[in-house]
Amino acid sequence: MAPIKFSIEKELVNPTGRQLGRAGTLETPHGVIHTPAFVAVGTKATVKALTPEQVKSTGAEVILANTYHLYLEPGAERIRSFGHRHDGVGLRPDAVGGLHKFMNWQGPTMTDSGGFQVFSLGVAYGKELSKITKITDPSQMIALRSLDSEVPRLANIGADGVSFRSHHDGSLHYITPEKSIEIQHDLGADIIFAFDECTSPAEDFRYQEEALERTHRWAKRSLDHHHSLIRANGGINKQALFGIVQGGREESLRKRSAEFMKGLDFDGFGIGGSFSKDDMETVVKWVNEILPKDKPRHLLGIGEPEDLFMGVENGVDLFDCVAPTRNGRGGTLYTSRGKINIRNAEFREDTGPVDIECGCDVCKNYSRAYLCHLYRAHEMLGGTLGSIHNLYFIINLVKNMRQAILDNTFIQFREKFLDKYF
Ligand SMILES: [Zn+2]
Repeated sequence: MAPIKFSIEKELVNPTGRQLGRAGTLETPHGVIHTPAFVAVGTKATVKALTPEQVKSTGAEVILANTYHLYLEPGAERIRSFGHRHDGVGLRPDAVGGLHKFMNWQGPTMTDSGGFQVFSLGVAYGKELSKITKITDPSQMIALRSLDSEVPRLANIGADGVSFRSHHDGSLHYITPEKSIEIQHDLGADIIFAFDECTSPAEDFRYQEEALERTHRWAKRSLDHHHSLIRANGGINKQALFGIVQGGREESLRKRSAEFMKGLDFDGFGIGGSFSKDDMETVVKWVNEILPKDKPRHLLGIGEPEDLFMGVENGVDLFDCVAPTRNGRGGTLYTSRGKINIRNAEFREDTGPVDIECGCDVCKNYSRAYLCHLYRAHEMLGGTLGSIHNLYFIINLVKNMRQAILDNTFIQFREKFLDKYF
């Protein structure tokens, strides 16, 4: 039996006729996620600067941790031991999974496959490429490619897996699809991802195609190994496995990838890649028009308000991004009238809340002046309060999109929000 159950409550009514967006529920062994939903990122088994109680206060229903980081520190075995107990004979799986108990988060969890970190250590190493890249000009891409031979890489991609050096201590590691799935079984998240190769948009078609073939082989191997581990565990399956669609900005490759993933027995799908902002909407459309309607879709690493509207309209059910907490720690705060830098002198005497329309604990209890002071004085509480507000703002925005789909007011809601925001 599948460990998750996805139900669509209502589809988005779009005057243009095409209907991809939907509101639904995703039942996991650790609780229900109301979709579309924004997933809080807890890379190293912590949403930076926040206790799980504070994370909960933002309305977060699910946390995504990072396979690569947890594998290196503290190690998957150590986390696994938190999800098991001795029954006198040996270790038996506990009712609460390793990661849940380890970080004291009782709600749903996810772990990513480690593919994006491998990308960051490899082709993107030292180039500050992120999931949204500003590079759209082909000549810039060629310039970036020519840099490849000059920039050191910490990762090497082979047919079977990826060898890489730890960014901690330089130790050498080798991750295959099987290894990624084993680590993710040890971590015990409710939703896990197949091992993939995230390519840079700067790569040419030939490389994108080669990488995609590899990602497809790795997807099949991830799935096979997931099933064999379940069989070895007496058929008990408490983890859903999502396959990741790749293919860069190439229409033919994206469509080929969506068709391929659709044909495999995954519980849901991730849409991966490093995007230019212009490419993202077309890529999401190409892919979601092909993926089966009855399974959840996660757009990996995307979280700016305008991109969330685009994703929801085009049938994305789950998002995650470090931006709300990273911005929060740095003092860049979201408001209904756009982002502000709370450190700015103009806020020193401002007794109002960060955002008059926000219902978070920070906006209810603290002033802009106080936050401005905390950041300027380098007080840790600044980063905590900023993260709580930003996470609440983004999570609540996606919740409001969900409600707008249910109320048939999505298009009006988007226009009203974006008009004020920009
Ligand atoms: Zn707030």
